Amino acid sequence: MEFRTVAETFKKLESTSERLELISTLASLFQKADASNIHMLIYLLQGRVAPPYTGIEIGMGEKLVEEAIARAYGVDRSEVERLYKEMGDLGLVAEHLASQKKQMTLFSEPLTLERVYNNFYKIATASGPGVVDKKVRLLADLLKDATPLEARYIVRIPLGRLRLGIGDATILEALALAKLGDRRYREDLERAYNYVSDLGYVARLLYEKGLEGIRNVQPVVGIPIRPALAQRASSLEEIMQRMGGECAAEAKYDGFRLQIHKKGDKVWIFSRRLENMTGQFPDITKAVLEQIDADEVIFEGEAIAYNEETGEFYPFQITIQRKRKHGIDKAAEEYPLKLFAFDVMYLNGENLTPKPYAQRREILEKLIKPGKTIEPSEKIIARSVKDLRDFFESCVERGLEGIIAKDLKSPYIAGARKWAWIKYKRTMKSQLSDTLDLVIVGYYKGRGNRAKLGIGGVLVAVYDPKNDVFKTVAKVGSGFTEEQFVQLKELLDKIAVPKKPPRVISKMEPDVWVEPKYVITVLADEITRSPNHTAGWDGERGLALRFPRAVSFVREDKGPEDATTEEELIQMYRQQPHVRVEEGEDNY
Ligand code: ATP
Repeated sequence: MEFRTVAETFKKLESTSERLELISTLASLFQKADASNIHMLIYLLQGRVAPPYTGIEIGMGEKLVEEAIARAYGVDRSEVERLYKEMGDLGLVAEHLASQKKQMTLFSEPLTLERVYNNFYKIATASGPGVVDKKVRLLADLLKDATPLEARYIVRIPLGRLRLGIGDATILEALALAKLGDRRYREDLERAYNYVSDLGYVARLLYEKGLEGIRNVQPVVGIPIRPALAQRASSLEEIMQRMGGECAAEAKYDGFRLQIHKKGDKVWIFSRRLENMTGQFPDITKAVLEQIDADEVIFEGEAIAYNEETGEFYPFQITIQRKRKHGIDKAAEEYPLKLFAFDVMYLNGENLTPKPYAQRREILEKLIKPGKTIEPSEKIIARSVKDLRDFFESCVERGLEGIIAKDLKSPYIAGARKWAWIKYKRTMKSQLSDTLDLVIVGYYKGRGNRAKLGIGGVLVAVYDPKNDVFKTVAKVGSGFTEEQFVQLKELLDKIAVPKKPPRVISKMEPDVWVEPKYVITVLADEITRSPNHTAGWDGERGLALRFPRAVSFVREDKGPEDATTEEELIQMYRQQPHVRVEEGEDNY
């Protein structure tokens, strides 16, 4: 496929403001691809060359890209820098220089998708002596043969600045439309994607084996499964009722979730966001080899730092220090981790996800040999609200976060937040019983004191997974220190876009729109009805947060599609005490 076609589509996507148009434009591009190159197209659309779990990233800094532009067009670096200052986008700089050059050269080889992809793959995986020069050469090599429009995107890809506003669900929907003729097949593709979390793999499978192949996808050791998530309930009574009078309840540990794969003596460890973290946890790797009695297995657990002397758990702030790239051995010694295993999804060639929880749990318990690092999560079988309450209280007393009730009969539902798991946490002091994870979609420049910072607040949104869009719910202006504001502005300016991104639904107009990318955790006093926000829109009004304040900086462990969903927001609204009294009048 010629890269010209890809570049022209990128241009069209850039000026699209409707999601459906986004999908049909993408679908017509996908129809031009085949089984040999569809994965290349999909990765490049997301500014990558491989799925996130591989850790393979193109990532080139601005300086290197400037150098490549200078080399490709035979101009000085200082000239590139000058143009960059003037135009504010290196993609446009390359486009400009390419158009000047094109008037002089008559012959150049048309770029293909394959060549562009392969060069970027080489850039991403280059190593050893002379690596910097190699990367610059590979990029310059592409630019030399690029048309001006192609040059614009070739430069934006390694800088991570494509900003096309496309999420995973949009890609799946476009694939369904392109190959199966109906967007509704997104559901089948999503099911496959939930098992293998690799859009390129799913796309190739669709092109090679059609719907049949997609429906037969099984988990693969070494490729992370998208995690099952929990719903929240307002009372233990509600939990018992939803569970039909009997359920399991497990301690909810406040650490971080690890998905562990093992094949023979090879171990992979993935984070909740499915990044490969194996190198950061040598102690867990060792424990898996010693304590897990299986040749091939995929299981999950929560890792939490604990005090070896007293046996007490450390708070999350301490545990999180183990998620680091340097000084790993020292940290492992200082803050040893315990891994509380809570589910098993695959064992020796068998996909266990369709099996009921009760059976999976039995298998899990048999898998773990006694040892000091890994143990099964604490669990009871509850047959009454009192059982749940006793267990909940004993968990909270020991400094745990709360409990997760689990439906004994339910399969493992990858990638979805379902009632098979219901979390119940100790109530916080504020009115709302939980924080929300919200996506920043824009910012306000700030007045008064904040004017000098250039940022006074952010517009945040919940996620609507069904329609794959973000709907606003609050303006957050407190909770950040001045330094954090400055840092935040720097991050946001890098992802600023000239107009409302197509997947954002908003009645508010921030001073600067940004690509939905960063998630912050927000606490509020209350959720109220509001005509200004689009989340939970019932035809007349939406929902808004009262007195929202940030309680985290940008969350590294959450992507935009991991944010609190619109449905959860509505549930939280309904779970507020005064709302329940007025229930009859509510439109939800
Ligand atoms: P939260 O911010 O409440 O931890 P989350 O969005 O990370 O939520 P949820 O689905 O809301 O994820 O809650 C489930 C999380 O609780 C899991 O992702 C896991 O990290 C953690 N957890 C702790 N103990 C358990 C357990 N026994 N079983 C399942 N998950 C557990």
